[in-house]
Amino acid sequence: RHDPLTELPNRVMLVEWLDDALARCRNDRFVGLVLLDIDHFKVVNDSLGHAAGDELLAVAAKRVDRVLRAGDRLARLGGDELAIVCHDAQAAGDVLTLARRVRSVFDEPFVLHNGDEVYLGASVGVSVSHGAHDTPARLMRDADVAMFAAKELGRGRVELFDDTMRERAVKRLEIEGALRRGLVRGEFRVHYQPVVDFARSEVIGFEALVRWQHPERGLIAPDEFLAVAEETGLIVPIGGWVLREACAQAAGWAAESPGAPHLTVSVNLSARQLADPELVSLVDGALAAAGLDPSLLVLEITEPVLMENRDTAVRVLRDLGARGVRVSIDDFGTGQSSLGYLKMLPVHTLKIDRTLVDGLAVDTEDAAIVAAIVQLGHALGLSVTAEGVEDGEQLGALRSLGCDLGQGYYFARPQPGEVVRALVHHRFRWSRHEAVASA
Ligand code: C2E
Ligand code: CA
Ligand code: CA
Repeated sequence: RHDPLTELPNRVMLVEWLDDALARCRNDRFVGLVLLDIDHFKVVNDSLGHAAGDELLAVAAKRVDRVLRAGDRLARLGGDELAIVCHDAQAAGDVLTLARRVRSVFDEPFVLHNGDEVYLGASVGVSVSHGAHDTPARLMRDADVAMFAAKELGRGRVELFDDTMRERAVKRLEIEGALRRGLVRGEFRVHYQPVVDFARSEVIGFEALVRWQHPERGLIAPDEFLAVAEETGLIVPIGGWVLREACAQAAGWAAESPGAPHLTVSVNLSARQLADPELVSLVDGALAAAGLDPSLLVLEITEPVLMENRDTAVRVLRDLGARGVRVSIDDFGTGQSSLGYLKMLPVHTLKIDRTLVDGLAVDTEDAAIVAAIVQLGHALGLSVTAEGVEDGEQLGALRSLGCDLGQGYYFARPQPGEVVRALVHHRFRWSRHEAVASA
């Protein structure tokens, strides 16, 4: 009934306390549950070692204990989760005040016995009882949902459970279930958007963008389901499917236009996919199954994902590079790339973020940033792509800044494989009128 590390009571005890508190709670009072989860605790364990992690947990628990009131009781739920039961609160606000006090013990750095200072954050979820018939299970579930919301809203915060949170949690579960069914039933589609070479004025390849053909809701854009896919890990099988599909498509284009320069296909990779130990063999498998030349495959990884997973990224990108696969840094200009790190990464392309292209014609600062990115890319021997080109003015500015490649609605929207296949057949040049005519 006790946790050996912190000597705190465990989950079994917590449920008993809640039961007891609910049974004895007067009608005009509340029972509160405060659930605290340390942010990025895995990073602490991975970088400082488990011994330091344990030490930090024990110190954090002691600090929390010191800010509690006489009737409050602290337990450890396992891992990096602590919980506090408040008896007999006069109002929900009292529980919230306590929760904020608990969170603020993380404002000060933690000093390890070797003298190192570590800053930790914590996300806190709060639920309060609804009356005599409430249950420990309900309080725990809702505090958990609130804690999840706190993480989602940027961590290091306190959130009180409310019904919209439950609705969102339910909706999320629904999406997850529907995504699983969608995978089994083959409801995903890949649309392709042309990538244009400015100097040669022609299409040199396509970016593969996933869509979900939902049986009732119709075609759903990735922004509506990728976050859930990423959280649940379903992005790994979905992304694997996209990769195989895109490679097969690109091999098809090559077979249909023998003699013509072969078209590349760009596929997006998420953080989870980059971390997947099977990634490289997945790429090998997709290339082999399609019979596609590896140099025709471009993998796009966003700047923030690359920056947050440096060690993995360097290793995986080297493995991919050794096979001839190319890598593009997506959404470039939005994160904080270290130039030293950038030089070390085996990448081929910088892809300027759409928001910068957007401001190109109207905002001189954006224009200066785009110019700097083009110069930086060229200095590092990389080609530079612009995404989200929507009008001729932007195109003109990009060309005069020396940008190499571009994509955007100005040339064509992402379209199903069959449509693109027809375009490829005509070897369309992007000269706008033709592109529109053949689309
Ligand atoms: P992204 O990689 O930055 O892809 C470009 C997005 O910009 C696409 O949105 C594309 O349709 C849109 N776009 C292209 N040209 C224009 C334009 O001229 N103006 C504007 N306003 N938008 C333009 P989409 O297809 O909705 O994809 C959104 C994001 O979802 C992608 O952003 C990418 O991060 C992610 N994604 C899409 N497919 C996959 C996939 O297969 N795997 C993974 N991991 N992520 C994917
Ligand atoms: Ca992309
Ligand atoms: Ca992008």
